[in-house]
Amino acid sequence: MTQKPVYLDANATAPVLPDVQSWLEDSVGLVGNPSSTHRLGRRARQVIDEARAKVAALAGATAANVIFTSGATEAINTVLCPILMDGGDRVKIGRIYASALEHPAVLAGGRLGPRGVLPVPVGGQGIVDLDALDQMLESHDHSTGRPIVAIMGANNETGIVQPTAEAFEIARRHNAYTLCDAVQIAGRLPMDRAADGATGGADFIVVSSHKIGGPQGAGALVAMRDDLAPPPLITGGGQERNHRAGTENVSALGGFGVAADWVSTHFETRDEVKVLRDRFEKGIGTISAGIEIIGENVDRLDNTTLFRLEGLPGETAAIGFDLEGVAVSSGSACSSGKVGPSHVLCAMGMSQEAARGGIRVSWSTANREPDVERALEAWERIYLRLDRRAA
Ligand code: PLP
Repeated sequence: MTQKPVYLDANATAPVLPDVQSWLEDSVGLVGNPSSTHRLGRRARQVIDEARAKVAALAGATAANVIFTSGATEAINTVLCPILMDGGDRVKIGRIYASALEHPAVLAGGRLGPRGVLPVPVGGQGIVDLDALDQMLESHDHSTGRPIVAIMGANNETGIVQPTAEAFEIARRHNAYTLCDAVQIAGRLPMDRAADGATGGADFIVVSSHKIGGPQGAGALVAMRDDLAPPPLITGGGQERNHRAGTENVSALGGFGVAADWVSTHFETRDEVKVLRDRFEKGIGTISAGIEIIGENVDRLDNTTLFRLEGLPGETAAIGFDLEGVAVSSGSACSSGKVGPSHVLCAMGMSQEAARGGIRVSWSTANREPDVERALEAWERIYLRLDRRAA
């Protein structure tokens, strides 16, 4: 009998949580458009309102400031806009200063386009260079409009946590708006601003349902101030209080809410995930000499290992793991369709060849001890094959 695949690619998409699965099965029976005023429509509206409150609680925000979207990519494209509405005024945006580590959705610049983005350099440890950010903002030409500073909470490939609070403090001194891509920290680090959260007191936060165990196709742009919002990206009907037109995906948003609630109340599971991740890291070090774990000595997400072995392309390793029934990724999911160097590792100063070598193993609350064994057995076989080829 073939074994069930082991899924170790949570940073690409986390497995759907059991509570979310139950919700999705039940929600198949829901009918009604949330904009309809009859009782079935009102029931659908209630699902969305409850989800909104749960996502707001996760983000440490007010429910009224959560704009639901189809995912983080849409949320980012919504907020990166040449105009923001601030306290009733239309404020022109000049440039986006984004860490060179950001997800391609940010680096593409949204409605400002890639030419509107100035990448902020990153140090060899995978952390955005705050002095460089300060200097770049110092030279910003305010006659072109106000700047936006975009720094992710933690990187999706390396898991390295970014100094958002310090970066956004610098941004505020330069009269910049701030955006935190919180996709990878949601449910993994506290986000509440009052609790000194990892979103660093940003003006805007983006989150994605499928990264926290909810269904794919749902996300949110969360404004942390009542009077600040971008004009809608998608226009038409008045859904999402005129911020995002189109009939809401009731089932997915309800599932997003269930996931947000679960990860907000099960923080203890993160320690269990760390135990598995650490055992895996120890194991690969024992099996094979010369492993480099990226960001080993800096603040990293507890579920993520990005490692490389000199001379082994990440894509080859990922295929090897796949043949052994273990799903991992080389670099980020979005770029793993095409074999190219990771822009994140390049930004950290690695050569193109070295930046092709990343193997990302990302754990979730669905993993258990035997998954570590299976992953290590797989790695041992991949490594032995390499060794034999080299001999
Ligand atoms: N930001 C980060 C850090 C991500 O890891 C991802 C997905 O890989 C995204 C944004 C895009 O999220 P979505 O798939 O919801 O569009």
